[in-house]
Amino acid sequence: MNYTTQQLKKWDAEHLLHPYMNFEKFRNIIAKGEGAYIYDHDGKKYLDGVAGLWCVNIGHGRKELGEVMQKQTEKLGYYSSFVSFANEPSILLAQKIMALAPKNLTHLYFTTGGSEANDATIRIVHNYNFLRKMPYKKHIISRKQAYHGMTYLTASLTGLPSNNENYHTITDFIHHLSCPSSYRPPMDGELTPKEQVNFYVTELEKKIHQLGAHNVAAFIAEPIMGAGGVHVAPEGYHKKMWEVCKKHDILYVSDEVVTGFCRLGEFFTTEKLYGVKADIINVAKGITSGYFPMGATLISDEIYSTLKKGEFTTAFTYSAHPVGAAVALKNIEIMEKEKIGEGVKTISQKLWQRLKDLQKKHPVLGDVRGSHFMLGFEFVADQKTKKPFPLEKKFSAKLSDFCFENGLVIRPLSENINVLSPTLIWKEEQVEELYKILDLSITQTLNALA
Ligand code: PLP
Repeated sequence: MNYTTQQLKKWDAEHLLHPYMNFEKFRNIIAKGEGAYIYDHDGKKYLDGVAGLWCVNIGHGRKELGEVMQKQTEKLGYYSSFVSFANEPSILLAQKIMALAPKNLTHLYFTTGGSEANDATIRIVHNYNFLRKMPYKKHIISRKQAYHGMTYLTASLTGLPSNNENYHTITDFIHHLSCPSSYRPPMDGELTPKEQVNFYVTELEKKIHQLGAHNVAAFIAEPIMGAGGVHVAPEGYHKKMWEVCKKHDILYVSDEVVTGFCRLGEFFTTEKLYGVKADIINVAKGITSGYFPMGATLISDEIYSTLKKGEFTTAFTYSAHPVGAAVALKNIEIMEKEKIGEGVKTISQKLWQRLKDLQKKHPVLGDVRGSHFMLGFEFVADQKTKKPFPLEKKFSAKLSDFCFENGLVIRPLSENINVLSPTLIWKEEQVEELYKILDLSITQTLNALA
């Protein structure tokens, strides 16, 4: 049966709730994906500048993943991993991921996504301290503008107040420090990156002192903040924050849901790029390139040894799903075979250069930031003073609309910030296509808002 776009849009409006629902606008029914491109239900082609949602790392329409999914479904579509049951693909996947991960991490727990991984982390951390006979060591320190998910618990770890206004947030054991934005540092005066790092470290020390180190269980951080605005911390920030955690017996949790699986050119970035030996690393998204809902919480040998002494009661029906695991294994195999990380390292240099060209041409583009294939744009009224573009004009939403009309998907994050997080298979051709469409769309946006 072929349904018209109009019919589908009508039914969508009648029945479907979308994440971050826009109740006024139901517009884009995506029907097909192929490599770096997607097609809407009317057959129009778009360059996918967001990889679905920071996740379709190896590109769209990969037949190998379809084949492996079919084979595994026919063999064993599902069986529980509770208690003493196990399945082959998840055992092999655990082994593969641990071989790619930093060496201090030895075990992992599979989830169905990033929120679940962060949620499970808090249970693991609390259980770990309970078993260490420190049941009061429960406080978690996060950061403003962080994004760690949208379960009821992880929405509280997330540091975006607009997400939580209508809800009860957990404030008795979850706390937020400043967002370490290099573009708009939260402190007064012109500080060098080193001075900025000192500010954040002092803030962390103060918070630990205020709560009592014996009450603080963990610090959680994305290597680069994603959904909160693609904020890049000043050089040395993560290492110094980790050192403070170590000093006070506080676990360092790295949320690599976006940065992991080659978006920054490496499978794991926390140790390689930031010099931090995290006690826990969480991944999702790129683990299956989005072809199957999956995530994982990787824990250190030290945590595992302690958990072994008690009961482990964190349990999800779809943990270690055999089909998801088979997909992830094939996805990783493709990433290695096609040297996806190396491609990211090479092409991102060209991408960065072209975005800098664009910034020179369009003074409204105040900041291009991020790393490799995780980028953010911030639009301003004045490049020198960084005066924001008037918020009520909603530059980023308008720009995304024009880009969409012109055949490119980029995502607005706030009034003046857009994110670019492409599939990791872009070549120079896609970079040039992006440049052309962005160039035109920025001009159109400025004209429309003039
Ligand atoms: N952590 C980070 C850094 C994320 O960016 C996201 C989602 O974008 C999550 C966690 C939540 O993952 P999920 O939407 O799979 O639950």
